[in-house]
Order: sequence, then C-alpha cells, then structure tokens
Amino acid sequence: MKILYQLNSKIKDLKPYEPLKGDFRIRLDANESFLSLPTNVMTEILDTLVQTDFNRYPDSLALNSCRAFAAYYGVNPELVTAGNGSDELISVLISTFLMKGDTVVTLSPDFTMYRFYSSLVEVRCIEVVKKSNFTVDVDELITVVNQTSAKMILFSNPCNPTSLGLTREEVRKIINSVSALVVLDEAYMDFWDQSLLQEADQYDNLVILRTCSKAIGLAALRIGFAVANETITSAIRAVKSPYNVNTLTQSAASVILSNSEILKEASNQIVCSRILLSQQLENLLKRKPNRFVLFPSCTNFVFLRLNDAKSVYEQLLLKGIAVRFMGDCLRITAGAPQENTELITALEQIL
Ligand SMILES: *Cc1c(COP(=O)(O)O)cnc(C)c1O
Repeated sequence: MKILYQLNSKIKDLKPYEPLKGDFRIRLDANESFLSLPTNVMTEILDTLVQTDFNRYPDSLALNSCRAFAAYYGVNPELVTAGNGSDELISVLISTFLMKGDTVVTLSPDFTMYRFYSSLVEVRCIEVVKKSNFTVDVDELITVVNQTSAKMILFSNPCNPTSLGLTREEVRKIINSVSALVVLDEAYMDFWDQSLLQEADQYDNLVILRTCSKAIGLAALRIGFAVANETITSAIRAVKSPYNVNTLTQSAASVILSNSEILKEASNQIVCSRILLSQQLENLLKRKPNRFVLFPSCTNFVFLRLNDAKSVYEQLLLKGIAVRFMGDCLRITAGAPQENTELITALEQIL
C-alpha cells in the first residue's frame, strides 16, 4: 500500500505571501516610490531592451549593474553582488552563513522576512524586542548575541516598519562588539544619512543590503545589492543561483543608476513628501489630541500607533486608500502631495 505523501513540518502551515489585492485609488501600503521614470530615462531603457539577446543567459554577475551601483554610491564594484531584489539576498545570506542549528538574532518589530527565511533553514531565531517607543537597546542586543553565540544578526536601518534609525556610531558599536556576521539592511538609507556603505570593507563581519525597490523606483524589476569584504562577497557569489538577475532588469538598472542627478532629485522629492506628511499628521494631532502616536521618521513612510488601528485601516480601504495594518499600528508610505492630502482628509473624517 502506498503511504500518503506529507509536507514536512517546517513548511506545512505556510501560505503564499499575499500582498493586499484590490483596486485602491491610493496605494500607500508597500513603501514604493510615487514617482515614475522620467521619459528620457524610459526611452534610454527601451533602447537597450531592443538590443537584448533574448536567446542568451544573463551576465551571471550582473557586472554592469554592479558597476553603476558602485559608481552611484562610491563603493568598490568588486565588493558588490546583485540579487533578485534584496529579498533574495536575505535568503542567500541566511543559507550561506548559517548551518542547521545555528542561532540568528533579529529585532522585533523589524522586517518579517528575516524570521521567515531563517525558519526555512532550521536555525534558531531569537527576536530581541524593542522598547515600547520602538527604540533599540543596543547593549541588550549585543549581550543577547554574545550570550547565545549567535552566528548572525539581521536588522533594517532605518527600520521597516518603525521608521526609526540607529546612528552610524550605534551600528559600529554593534559590529565591533560581536563575532557574529552583521547583516545591515539599508533598504531606506537613501532617505537618511547614516549609511555604513563607505566602511563595508573595513569589517570582517559586515554585509550591507541595498535595494532598488524604494528610492530608486524599480520595485517592478526586482534588483538589490549586497556590499561586503572580498571573502564574504566570494561566498555570496558562490552560493547564489547563477542567473539570478535577468538581462532586462540588469539593463534597466544600469541605465537608471547611471542617472545620478535624477536619482538624487527623486530621493529629495520623496523625503520632502514624507516631511510634509509628518507635518500634516502633527497638525491633525493638534485637532485630535492624543488620538494617535506618531513616531519620528527617517524613511519614506510614517508609523502611527492607535488603539483602533484595525478599524481605521478598514475605513481607509473603504475610501479607496490602502495603508499597511500592523497590530496596533499603521504604516503609511509618503505618496504624491495630492495623495497625502487626501489621506489626511480621510483620516480626519474617520478619527
Ligand atoms: C522593501 C524591503 C526590502 C526588499 O526589497 P526588494 O529589493 O524589493 O526585495 C528589504 N528590506 C526591507 C527592510 C524592506 O523594507
């Protein structure tokens, strides 16, 4: 008699990742850029696409994209590895630098994919819980890492979802106080000024992740980068799947990353939008005292805590506005000025 095939215990309860579906007038739920590519850049990209050899595999190291990335950020291209979104790189880093049974430390709340990919490779994942104002106790983090002999720490800086950031000095202290590999996810660092990219090669235990999905505005294409010293870089390159970034994405990313003026201007515009959104929310708070708590942001989104987050979230959806609901908090991406204003009007009515 044939015995029924059964899914293994580590994945049997998993469900496919489901982003919010539906036709919402205003999407402020995924931290994407609200800017589309300028026409001249779009034309430049289309020109490279028609020259593509569709019958050939992509460049396995995405060298042109890595060079363009390195030039834009002022780092050594030899230390850059491209991934199919930084999401893929998180998965590759976890399966490269951890062995079954190892311990990995993350923070909570933080980007949930760290925990998810850890669970797939059967490592022990310890979450250090942030304080109630969502700041990180750096000394506690260091102690936990050292006491558990963790092999890796993963966290985002600035943090998604809290929008708060650790200073360079605090992150350096973490890196220098542990023997674990520090994976520093700088997905939102284009909106702040505390990057450690320039120092990536000075540590034997640091990998920095960057993405083109937020400030660079290429979420549709899936490309992100890891920057680390030579030893770590060769290990990542050896483990990643050979053709992880497709040719169309490589071409488009090379073009956009070579347009540094446009990128800097776009980042500025997004930061301005977020500053404005924060101010509008501060003003709303004056009209609705203590109705919510607004956390200080160094990203392209804001984070609010409110008792009736679920109900506010649902009422916003009914008005055609999508934000991200997270327990007793809402994460709201800064949109185009008109979108922010519509959001504030809707919130004012709901609150
Ligand atoms: C959006 C995001 C990413 C994923 O970026 P992709 O390059 O699109 O995979 C990684 N880390 C954090 C913290 C993010 O918010």
